[in-house]
Amino acid sequence: MEALTREFATVAAGAFGLVVGSFLNVVVHRLPLEGESVLRPLRSRCPGCRRELAAWENVPVLSWLLLRARCRTCRWPIPWRYPLVEAVTAGLWALAAWLAASPALFAVHALVLAALVVASAVDFDRFEIPDEVSIGGMWLAPVCSALVPALHAETWVAQQVSGAGQVDRIGAALGSLAGIAVGGGALLGVGWLGKLLFRRDAMGFGDVKLLAAGGGFVGPGGALLALFLGSLVASLVGAANLLRFLCLSRARVRARGATKPLARSLAAARIAGRYLPFGPYLGLGIGIVLLAWKDVRGVLSVFAF
Ligand SMILES: [Zn+2]
Repeated sequence: MEALTREFATVAAGAFGLVVGSFLNVVVHRLPLEGESVLRPLRSRCPGCRRELAAWENVPVLSWLLLRARCRTCRWPIPWRYPLVEAVTAGLWALAAWLAASPALFAVHALVLAALVVASAVDFDRFEIPDEVSIGGMWLAPVCSALVPALHAETWVAQQVSGAGQVDRIGAALGSLAGIAVGGGALLGVGWLGKLLFRRDAMGFGDVKLLAAGGGFVGPGGALLALFLGSLVASLVGAANLLRFLCLSRARVRARGATKPLARSLAAARIAGRYLPFGPYLGLGIGIVLLAWKDVRGVLSVFAF
């Protein structure tokens, strides 16, 4: 019986996540635009021809496939970001439902994951993280923690304050505040160090606020682990990008018969790397810690000893 309800919750959360993902696309599109309401107009329009979309053109993932990624009337290419955001939100919500120990925990996890999807997508598009998500998250984290103390069951500060037994509301709220301070502080420190070493701003302030908000939900240790995981993935992707860039530009330079290909490609790659958004990787790190803190710590302890 219990296994059955868990499976049902997973499927239901996935299906609901598809619909929410569709709404998140609207948020990603409208949030960075000044003076645009996220909720109005309710009906979506094609950005190409401003035509109001019919209900069947608004079905998550399916419409994109049916329309073959183009507007029916003006042939405006619908970015693959739309079905991707929908599918990712659905997958994350299904996973959160499968892993959550209680409905209250699932509710908070689902909210944080949706916010991370929005922050990542906007950062990819515009190299900025909306304050509505990061600062909003910083306000919301201690409140959610007091309401659902189980969020900080693994947070050391919360355990110490609560004493023996389960983490209580005050302990969880303090654990959340400590997470905000450590998450924001760690990235401020990294940014300061980067400025000292490279004499330019290495870290956007949006990233600082995002990790601060994330720390509010995963605690100080979780924030540091999220930063580590995010940096790890970002550097792997960055190295792959650099390699691809070098190969491409060397081939191009060889075709033109120019000299000094390597130095020039490196300079250009450095410029390209400067505009690599970090928010999506931070978001990935926060999401992993949020859903699987214990498992990640188990894996990492293998490396530590
Ligand atoms: Zn159109």
